[in-house]
Amino acid sequence: MTDRPDACPPADRLASALTIDSIERKRRGETLSADHLLQLVGHFVAGRVPDYQAAAWLATVACMGLEAEEVLSLTRAYAAGGPVGRIGRIGEIVVDKHSTGGVGDKTTLVVVPMVAACGIPFAKMSGRGLGFAGGTVDKLESIAGLRMELERPHAAAILNEVGMVIAGQSATLAPGDATTYRLRDVTGTVDSIPLIAASILSKKVAFGPDLLVLDVKVGSGAMTPKPEDAWTLARLMEAVARLCGIRATAILSDMSQPLGYAAGNALEVAEAMRALEGQHIPALSELCNHLAAKIIRLARPGLGHDEAEQQARASLESGAALEIFLKWASAQGAEAGALDRIRKGPGAKRVSPLRASRSGWVHEVDPRLIGTAALHLGAGRLMQSDRIDPDAGITLGARVGDRVEAGDTIALLHGDHADHDLSAALAADAFRIEDAPPAPIALILDPETRPAPDAFRASESEL
Ligand code: URA
Repeated sequence: MTDRPDACPPADRLASALTIDSIERKRRGETLSADHLLQLVGHFVAGRVPDYQAAAWLATVACMGLEAEEVLSLTRAYAAGGPVGRIGRIGEIVVDKHSTGGVGDKTTLVVVPMVAACGIPFAKMSGRGLGFAGGTVDKLESIAGLRMELERPHAAAILNEVGMVIAGQSATLAPGDATTYRLRDVTGTVDSIPLIAASILSKKVAFGPDLLVLDVKVGSGAMTPKPEDAWTLARLMEAVARLCGIRATAILSDMSQPLGYAAGNALEVAEAMRALEGQHIPALSELCNHLAAKIIRLARPGLGHDEAEQQARASLESGAALEIFLKWASAQGAEAGALDRIRKGPGAKRVSPLRASRSGWVHEVDPRLIGTAALHLGAGRLMQSDRIDPDAGITLGARVGDRVEAGDTIALLHGDHADHDLSAALAADAFRIEDAPPAPIALILDPETRPAPDAFRASESEL
């Protein structure tokens, strides 16, 4: 996409005409054909459509929605233009996982090495931060030298050598997602269910795993705060993945507070490393164990639930998961000593405490406010031109259910951004402290709450 105001060559004028036609059709409630979406995304990727028109198209889709068949076509269109299909050796089951995003969600950094350490090849395609939610690509790029833009043959070589690879969408892998993602990040279109589904699944089509576990977040810090919307997204992704030849299954997990204690890129890498060293990090460790065990069990059908959990835990206790993480980071270019520097402690020049205004029990740590506060400290982007400060972010000193006394440090703000005072105010607002302890929060939603298939939109069955 481009913002050049004049001297449009004829191809650009046709691309703009198609974009405007597409916006008008969607507004009239029409269904866009696979061919139409393929052409449109091709024009976006080739830079023939100005950003303002592409953003208007995304906004129209975010408002009007897409039919399930359009999501399938958009998924394929996002992946087209780059290599697609199964990566990995013949005869091996290659797995992947994806979370729909939230604040402090560093599960990929822990789960991928846990599963790979059990001898199951893990080919992970990830995304950058979106709005207030962090992204794996930005987190991992806080490791000096580490490259997330990989050509597919290079990714395949790392997978075969190490047993795991993590790559981001790029001009060659899921190029349509890469092109639209950076616009969604800054145009308020991140929480559209069809756009999330196509974005996530196009990255899966690029590596073609045999098996995919989806972690759909629910709660105030999720793209889908309401369980019914989260289930809709889960079922839509499972159905579209199946049509792309990928066996997918989803769980719903809580995002009503940040996951673990850290929100911010290098801060989250450090916390993930602590989890890999075997430290128990509330909610993060439980969720990683659950996801790793689920993936192991699906990849090895003969295994019982308890055995899979035991293998997942053993990968941490033996140090094998940490070892494979270090080997992988080095294979993807991490400078010697880069992880030690991150692990040693916060790198930001300014670290300021946030104190509890009263004594009591923490009832709420609003993840949107914490994510937005971290963004204003420099951990995310408000404008496309914003540069991320890898050391910026927030570490919590208390989580929901903790007892705090007035004056206790309940969070640390890392970073010296001009918006520091705004961040401090947002972080303070995120905490709600009451006199009595809160009711416990379920980390993983009961599958019993999953709606029956006939409660889902009719369009699923039409796929
Ligand atoms: N992760 C992605 O890759 N895309 C989204 O839209 C949301 C989460």
